[in-house]
Amino acid sequence: MTTFKSLGLNTELLKAVEKLGFESPTEVQEKVIPILLEQDTDLVALAQTGTGKTAAFGFPMLQRIDAKQRMTQGLILAPTRELCLQITNEMGIYGQALKNVNIVAIYGGANIQEQANKIKRGAQIVVATPGRLKDMIRRRLVDISAIQYCVLDEADEMLNMGFYEDIKDILTHTPKSKSSWLFSATMPPEVSTIAKKFMNKPIEITVGTKNSSAKNIDHQYFTVAARERYSALRAVVSMNTDLFGVVFCRTKIETQKVAEKLIQDGYKAAAIHGDLSQNQRDIVMQSFRKKRIQLLIATDVAARGIDVDDLTHVINYQLPDEIETYTHRSGRTGRAGKLGTSIIFVTKSDRRKIKLIENKLQTKLKELQMPSPEEVLTSKITHWVDQVKNIPIKSDLHNHLPQAISAFEEISKETLIEMMLSKEFKSFDLQPKALEFGRDDRSSDRRSDRRSDRKINAPQDKDRFFINVGARDQYEWTTLKDFLRSFLKLGPDDVFQVEVMKNFSFFSTHKDHRDLVLKSFDDLIMDDRKVNVELTKKGKTFSPKKNFKKKKSKFN
Ligand code: AMP
Repeated sequence: MTTFKSLGLNTELLKAVEKLGFESPTEVQEKVIPILLEQDTDLVALAQTGTGKTAAFGFPMLQRIDAKQRMTQGLILAPTRELCLQITNEMGIYGQALKNVNIVAIYGGANIQEQANKIKRGAQIVVATPGRLKDMIRRRLVDISAIQYCVLDEADEMLNMGFYEDIKDILTHTPKSKSSWLFSATMPPEVSTIAKKFMNKPIEITVGTKNSSAKNIDHQYFTVAARERYSALRAVVSMNTDLFGVVFCRTKIETQKVAEKLIQDGYKAAAIHGDLSQNQRDIVMQSFRKKRIQLLIATDVAARGIDVDDLTHVINYQLPDEIETYTHRSGRTGRAGKLGTSIIFVTKSDRRKIKLIENKLQTKLKELQMPSPEEVLTSKITHWVDQVKNIPIKSDLHNHLPQAISAFEEISKETLIEMMLSKEFKSFDLQPKALEFGRDDRSSDRRSDRRSDRKINAPQDKDRFFINVGARDQYEWTTLKDFLRSFLKLGPDDVFQVEVMKNFSFFSTHKDHRDLVLKSFDDLIMDDRKVNVELTKKGKTFSPKKNFKKKKSKFN
């Protein structure tokens, strides 16, 4: 078996490998690391995200740079801020045992001066998005004239996003003698052009993505009528209670509609699309990573750079036009040796695309039948039983146990369970027509939530909170309300009376949620600013001007 040691990694990097628990190199690492460690060569590697490619270029770069020199020696270009931060983070972990190595991320949407200061302190490796790097080169805030290694990561995505001119411009500021390492999931003509134009006889490496995707990903499809897509999605989510995944839609509007419906039906979902500001995007992604959100509803463009390793499912709400895009989507699950499922909802007229995908992946896609309401219910009961069995015992209730036991003495265990089941699934409709997978216990709970919400408008029952985010963070009351209720995992109407000011906002919840609200924002950072939520003082009527001044001095 090939080991990282046999690939030629030094002791410091091997320590990181051990700490990370990487047992053996992945295919791309096995092929690429020895070449990049031993040869001063250009290289083109066809490898998807999730194959371990960051370590494939990261380990050799970390091993080859001279930590005693403070000047920038390695440059990594990536298409999105998200990916840029992720690479910086991974490289930091890989290089943790190396002394005096600084890796700095530069990307748009954050303070340029802070990034420039970090570079000034010495950054042997710079990880950058093309737009911000170009800007910083122009302002002479970064010097890449002496780099020895240049990585173009996810080159196809960078070109898709229109960075060709920026990349061309950036490369003119780098020395000819450097080694260029290009990584791309696909090889469209534009990427070949870059390789031909800017690289010198690159060694070409292909990683068997076809096989690995067939091996780790279970591709399944359901044939549905277009109007049944949402019901089908609900059925799939209901049947897979541990599902943690991304649902791909074709348009922004569709992502929003699907997310909205899922939230209304009681699921933890959020949409991510091009209309969100970078801050809002970051917050959604943070919630998703922490699994406060179970389902991320995304367009293909917005999903670029999303890199979450343990997705159990990728769901194609609609199929994309390009089969290549399907490969990208499904490749987001089944990563790092784990198993994943890619589900497609396909209409009869689109079924020919299934054949095309099968040809492309050289694997058979499984056709599944939609579960019956009975099957959905069986699965939900199994999950509920598991949850009940795992409820932690609260020891301070122990003394009250005899009282409760004697109160239930008359009722058999069977009847008691039946009563609990009836409460839990009181509105689950077993009529196929009525159910259509579109209605179950959760939605009725939401309805009752709404009824109770009306009652809590009484001042004594509600709490009013201050939060230091506002219009400057591109929030309006509707988007802030959406964010708060999905972040706090509350129902559609549990957050109300949202008022957005320039630098801060106010919102109300039922006082039962007070602890949840006060504790939930503890570790939330937005644009390098800690998100702060406070209870407003009781009895005081809200005066925007007064509060604005008070808070402004504190938070700006
Ligand atoms: P990447 O393709 O670089 O985005 O890597 C995907 C994930 O695989 C990352 O979370 C890595 O930490 C992980 N990974 C990279 N190399 C290995 C390896 N040899 N064994 C296990 N996991 C790995």
